[in-house]
Amino acid sequence: MMHLRALGNTGIRVSEIGLGCEGFLEKDETFTRNLFALALDHGVNCMDLYSPDPDLHRRVGRVLGARRKEFVYQAHLCTVWQDGQYKATRNLKEVVASFGRMLENLDTDYVDVGMIHYVDSLAVWKNIAENGILDYAKKCKAEGKIRHIGMSSHNPEAALAAVKSGAIEVLMFSVNPCYDLLPGDEDVNKLFEETSYNRPLFNLDPAREELYETCQRMGVGITVMKVYGGGDLLTDNSPAGKAMTPVQCIHYALTRPAVSSVMIGAHSAKELAAALEYEDADEAARDYASVLASFPKMSWKGHCMYCGHCAPCPKHIDVATVTKFYNLARAQGKVPETVREHYAALSAKAGDCIACGACEKRCPFGVKIVENMRAAKAMFGA
Ligand code: SF4
Ligand code: SF4
Repeated sequence: MMHLRALGNTGIRVSEIGLGCEGFLEKDETFTRNLFALALDHGVNCMDLYSPDPDLHRRVGRVLGARRKEFVYQAHLCTVWQDGQYKATRNLKEVVASFGRMLENLDTDYVDVGMIHYVDSLAVWKNIAENGILDYAKKCKAEGKIRHIGMSSHNPEAALAAVKSGAIEVLMFSVNPCYDLLPGDEDVNKLFEETSYNRPLFNLDPAREELYETCQRMGVGITVMKVYGGGDLLTDNSPAGKAMTPVQCIHYALTRPAVSSVMIGAHSAKELAAALEYEDADEAARDYASVLASFPKMSWKGHCMYCGHCAPCPKHIDVATVTKFYNLARAQGKVPETVREHYAALSAKAGDCIACGACEKRCPFGVKIVENMRAAKAMFGA
C-alpha cells in the first residue's frame, strides 16, 4: 500500500513514489494512459512537470480528466517550449506566457506547487528574487493559480539560501548517495563526471547535510530528482563502483530529513513497477547500509546514515530516528519545538538505552550509538 507523507508544511500529502515526466515525453496517449493507470492503481498522487512540452500537458490533462483534483501537480516556472524544444528562461514575459499556456493545456486553473526551475547558483537565486520572477510566483499564489511556491536545484548553497529566505515551501533536489558526497558545484554536469569521484570521499557533504536539516526544521518539503543518478547507480559502472537496486536508492532518499516524495522518471511500465516495488519491499530489500559500506572509494565512517541497519534494539529504540532528531537539534544549537513534539511522541527514548552495544555491532559505519543515545538523552531530557 502506498504511504503518503506530509509535503513540508504545505498541508498536502504526497505519495512516497511520485512520477517524473521525462519518460512521458515523445510518447502517445496510450502510453500515458497505461503508465498513469499503473501509477494510480498503486496510489501515486503526484507528478513533476518540469517540461514545458504542450503535447505532454494536453495528454496529462486528458488522461487525468476528472481525477485532476486528487493529483498534485508540481509544475515549473521558467521553462518555455521553443521550436519544439525545452528551454530554461529568466525572461519574465516568457515565464508568464509559458505558465498561462501550461494551465490551459493541462486544462486546470491551478498547480499545487509552482517550482522556480533550475536555480543552480547563488547568482541565479539573487536574480530570481530581484528580477520579478519570485514576485510573479507570489502573485500567482495570491490569485490561487499556484498553491505553494517551490524551487528546483542541484546546488546546496543556492537551495539553502532560498530555503532560509522563507520564500519557498517545497524544494526539488537531486538526492542520491553519490551526489551527497560531493561538494556543491554550480555545474550539475560535474555531479556525473567520473573525475569527481577519482579521490577518496568521506561522509556527507556538510552543505548538503545542512540543507536537508534546515528544510526539516523550516518545514520545507523535499521532492527528489535523480534518485538513481541518471541510472548510473543501478550499474557496477556507477561512481560508487557497485550497483544498488532501485528500492535501495529510493530508501536512501526517503531516509534523508525532509524528503517527502521521490519522483521517478520511468520510461516504461517495467521501470515504474521496479520503483513501486518499494512500497511492499521488506526491510532487508530496502536496507542500503551494506552496499554503501562496501563502496570502494567512499566511506561514511562514524556518520549516521539513518539507514536503520542497527535495528532491532531490545529496548525498542528507533536509533535512526532518535539520531536524526538529535542531529537536527544539535545543528540548531537548541531543540526546535516541532522536533521536541516528535521526539516526545516516540514510544522509546534515548534514555531507555541500556548500553548493551548490540546496535553498534550491527552498524556498518561504526557510529558510536551508545554515546549518541547519552547525548540525545541529555539534549531532550528523556
Ligand atoms: S547508527 Fe548506523 S546502522 Fe544505525 S541508523 Fe545510523 S548508520 Fe544506520
Ligand atoms: S545500545 Fe542502546 S540503543 Fe543500542 S541496542 Fe542496546 S539498548 Fe538499544
